[in-house]
Amino acid sequence: MTMSADPFAAPRAANGRAPDVFKRGGWMPMRQFSDAEIVDFAVVGTGAGGGPLLAGLAENGFSVVGFDAGPYFRPLEDFASDEREQDKLYWTNERVVDGANPITMGGKNSGRAVGGSAEIRDLAMVSRIEMGSDGRATGVHYHREGRWRFQKARNVVVAGYAIETPRLLFASATDRFPDGLANSSGLVGKNLMTQSNQAVFGVMEQEVRWNKGPPSLSITEHWNYDDRKDFAGGYCWMAQGPLPVEWATVQTGSRGLWGQRLRDEMEKYNHQVGLKMVGEMLPDERNRVTLADDKDQYGLRVARVTYSWGDNDKALIQHALGQMQTSLEAVGATDIFRQENDTNHLAGTARMGDDPATSVVNADCHSWDIPNLWVCDGSVFPTTGGVNPSLTITSIAMRTADRIHALSARGEL
Ligand SMILES: Cc1cc2nc3c(=O)[nH]c(=O)nc-3n(C[C@H](O)[C@H](O)[C@H](O)COP(=O)(O)OP(=O)(O)OC[C@H]3O[C@@H](n4cnc5c(N)ncnc54)[C@H](O)[C@@H]3O)c2cc1C
Repeated sequence: MTMSADPFAAPRAANGRAPDVFKRGGWMPMRQFSDAEIVDFAVVGTGAGGGPLLAGLAENGFSVVGFDAGPYFRPLEDFASDEREQDKLYWTNERVVDGANPITMGGKNSGRAVGGSAEIRDLAMVSRIEMGSDGRATGVHYHREGRWRFQKARNVVVAGYAIETPRLLFASATDRFPDGLANSSGLVGKNLMTQSNQAVFGVMEQEVRWNKGPPSLSITEHWNYDDRKDFAGGYCWMAQGPLPVEWATVQTGSRGLWGQRLRDEMEKYNHQVGLKMVGEMLPDERNRVTLADDKDQYGLRVARVTYSWGDNDKALIQHALGQMQTSLEAVGATDIFRQENDTNHLAGTARMGDDPATSVVNADCHSWDIPNLWVCDGSVFPTTGGVNPSLTITSIAMRTADRIHALSARGEL
């Protein structure tokens, strides 16, 4: 296999071209703007929200520049067929976590890589949104090739996900917006949600080889719709087949097994079966992102993430664990083990709504407070639901691109 140059060492989207992710060694032309040019939209983050938004805006004729703190990977060349290879996709920068149920960060819930199109500046960490004296955003400061730069833009979109989005809005505070941008409601950073991701595992007499099937081989959302329960919200569950390293980590972490006991447990690997939930956790203002005093390698304050499960969350989790265990026992699984402490996807912290007093953005992802500032990612979710979130994030982004086009056509942008 021919590996291309290290994507962490130097930006790949440069000199008017970007990697063609469908062709080994291929390139695609990329329109490029100088820092002196004023683009229509600067989009911070090119993931499930920012990527489709950039594509949609570019298709509608807007000039756009996307920024991502992560590299521009070539999926056909940069990844060996090995479980640990995906680790390089994760956002592993320092974050402070606290609360009664601190969220495990990194590989469980945050990525850092280019996932979009149009002009992308990869490995470009945006530190601040610059505000003009008229209360409008004038562009973004970003770090590249050893120095800070500034991209002028008529509009700025923040799409850094549920932790980095509020972090950037807080870090961009000015005298006029001392509590952070778009925060007249006081809700930026609040109502952070994760999804419950508990699991039940068991052992079958016959060999199963659970790692050979895709994880969502079967899925049920039954409990999203059935009213015979004593909690709000719902969940889905799916068949699981963790790869060996991850499974060993569950044994050492959740179960505390080491030495001979760990070895004995791993011997059962090909006989294991498992079910894992994706559960709805309710929004709660006490679950939030703020700025810690610690600083990162750019001198920027890192995020503090505070999280505690509510009574409803705990009731939902126990209900799901019981149902998953009943199902495994029904197929004859023994040695049942409940993994009670896992969570995954994030949402909230810049909620969408129809009232500026109780939300951060409107239905078009437009901030209520600043006429040319938008937020378009998983942070706009007012509730998180009991299924995987990414397709909803992408749908919101595509809708936002269409809405911006319509607003522009009516001269209302
Ligand atoms: C291991 C893993 C498995 C997952 N599995 C599923 C699944 O099966 N189904 C599902 O629906 N969802 C899944 N998710 C969740 C899904 O990836 C997220 O919900 C989704 O990507 C969030 O979209 P987003 O646009 O809000 O943020 P992201 O996609 O995270 O994009 C944010 C981007 O912003 C960049 N960024 C942040 N701050 C800055 C800054 N200051 N300057 C420059 N760039 C910045 C980041 O580098 C990142 O690339 C999974 C997540 C992980 C980590």
